[in-house]
Amino acid sequence: MGGAMNDLSSAPTPDGAKDDGRPVRQRKPDWIRVKAPVGKGYHETRKLMRDLSLNTVCEEAACPNIGECWEKKHATVMILGDVCTRACAFCNVKTGMPRMVDPMEPENVAVAAGEMGLKHIVVTSVDRDDLPDGGASQFVKVIEALRRETPDTTIEILTPDFRNKMRPAVEAICEAGPDVYNHNLETVPRLYPTIRPGARYYASLRLLEEVKAHDPLIFTKSGIMLGLGEQRLEVHQVMDDMRSADVDFITMGQYLQPTPKHARVEDFVTPKAFAAFGSIARAKGFLQVASSPLTRSSYHAGDDFAEMKAAREAKLARTDGK
Ligand code: SF4
Repeated sequence: MGGAMNDLSSAPTPDGAKDDGRPVRQRKPDWIRVKAPVGKGYHETRKLMRDLSLNTVCEEAACPNIGECWEKKHATVMILGDVCTRACAFCNVKTGMPRMVDPMEPENVAVAAGEMGLKHIVVTSVDRDDLPDGGASQFVKVIEALRRETPDTTIEILTPDFRNKMRPAVEAICEAGPDVYNHNLETVPRLYPTIRPGARYYASLRLLEEVKAHDPLIFTKSGIMLGLGEQRLEVHQVMDDMRSADVDFITMGQYLQPTPKHARVEDFVTPKAFAAFGSIARAKGFLQVASSPLTRSSYHAGDDFAEMKAAREAKLARTDGK
């Protein structure tokens, strides 16, 4: 167990496996419990997504924040279908042979953004290793449709690693000009073979570097899940790696096991430990840091984007003043 990173003294002990080897549901600590999704806003968001045949990562990943986010009309659209070509040990999205790309999807994403009156939208996708460009051109079309239909909406994309076609994919997407480019490292490099077996840690880091090399004005963002058995110093190393790739924004949140078939939770990291990681990240020079048990890449993304922009302007003003 990765005890070094956790303040276990105040963490409730999760139930372990029984002697007969059968998995037992792990009890979540109080700070993880969230409100059930019941409000009017939630139902309106749900209906809109259904009407426009859009998938969301909020539902597919069984995100614990769905009640809060959808009530506020904040959803993360998942393009390129709901079937992924990878099978990561932490992720709830279906694996298999994906269907054809929906040509109406870019337009429908733009309609959803317009109807919800979004100031900021987050668009992500499944991995599409089956497509020659990994799905990059669909990201480009979505960005173009959004710029056309809702020019005031700022755009954040959260992409896969575009394995073996990363450079042309990143170039095409950067040319389309998203405001924020997010790509998650997900966990520390040591845990990649079990948690993210289809991906390579250093390839993901290079992707983030490539975005900045292509357009330094695009904000870059990346996140990791805690509670998978990582050690404190390994998390610090990931922060250093991200900083050396000039990543602007780091997110850290608690990993939750979506089903008993997925990787188990090794630690419930306390809110205090998350705050400590957040302070260290700030000291390492990130423009923006989100670190709490319920932090997800897209949680409060709009407000965080506004803060990050202000932080960059303040930093530039300081540099100019010297
Ligand atoms: S945190 Fe992100 S994925 Fe979760 S409900 Fe909110 S918008 Fe959706």
